[in-house]
Amino acid sequence: MEIIDGKEVAQALKKQIAAQVATMVGAGERAPHLVAILVGDDGASQTYVDHKEKMSAEVGFRSTVLRLSGDTSQAELLDLIAKLNRDTEVDGFIVQLPLPRHIDEQKVIEAIDPSKDVDGFHPENVGRMVMGLPSFVSATPDGILQLLKYYNIPTAGKHCVVIGRSNIVGRPIANLLSQKGWDCTVTMCHSRTRNLADVVRSGDIVIAALGRAEFVTADMIKPGAVVIDVGITRVPAPETKSGFRLKGDVKFDEVAPLCSYITPVPGGVGPMTIISLMRNTLLAKRLFGFFDRE
Ligand code: NAP
Repeated sequence: MEIIDGKEVAQALKKQIAAQVATMVGAGERAPHLVAILVGDDGASQTYVDHKEKMSAEVGFRSTVLRLSGDTSQAELLDLIAKLNRDTEVDGFIVQLPLPRHIDEQKVIEAIDPSKDVDGFHPENVGRMVMGLPSFVSATPDGILQLLKYYNIPTAGKHCVVIGRSNIVGRPIANLLSQKGWDCTVTMCHSRTRNLADVVRSGDIVIAALGRAEFVTADMIKPGAVVIDVGITRVPAPETKSGFRLKGDVKFDEVAPLCSYITPVPGGVGPMTIISLMRNTLLAKRLFGFFDRE
């Protein structure tokens, strides 16, 4: 059994990105520029944006954080997005979610120019991804693919069981792994799936993305399976300084001995997500014209 070390993979990819940026800048080009818009003062969102800003600096990007007050109107936010869409010095930008309740998230996502949508949430990017066309793939599914690639985990012809069908994790990763090149036979499960344990037990690769702490137990796993645990749930842990502990969707201690590979939580999929945003931003700067910017 091998534990997939997301921190190590993230570190390796980060070095590659930094080297590519250094070469770009050395050749007289400007560095990629990532802009993050943060609306309101949600603590978790603030932390995520801080991490993105720090990582941007570490790989040599220019980064700008636009902090807007929680009572910013939808029209004001859409105006700002239109401005960033036109700004030729901005390669990619993200609007940190969730947004305050008075703002329609879908409208905001759809207002972003798909060629700058480095979060990969715009329907044009999602549609292109589903069709196997060049696109920005959103962070978590891209992070999972990078982990499989780094560890040379065979996927062709394997039965991959994905638990969860959300637009940000389950649905895209199920689609991507079914595409040419990855070539999995994919089953996507959800809360209405019958005999879930039997279905999961038939998986050579199991991707747990349901958000229920320690839901996947040893009896649900085929010996030798690859288990990717996407879940992050805070469970109370009075003995810790923070008062909580992060748990994945997989009961790690009993499942790990059965697996060929498994991701831990934390330290598995989590560290990959910011890296995927950096990868997309570098791609946006290079933008190989898969979008018509006109
Ligand atoms: P979500 O939108 O809540 O979707 C959960 C999915 O799991 C739904 O499709 C739901 O089915 C299914 N589900 C829930 N309970 C189930 C059950 N008992 N049996 C079978 N399926 C069940 O969650 P999400 O946004 O995809 O996130 C999933 C987890 O990943 C969360 O813990 C989240 O914090 C974590 N996450 C981690 C990262 C990372 O960087 N590591 C990134 C994103 C998310 P229905 O559709 O039928 O309701």
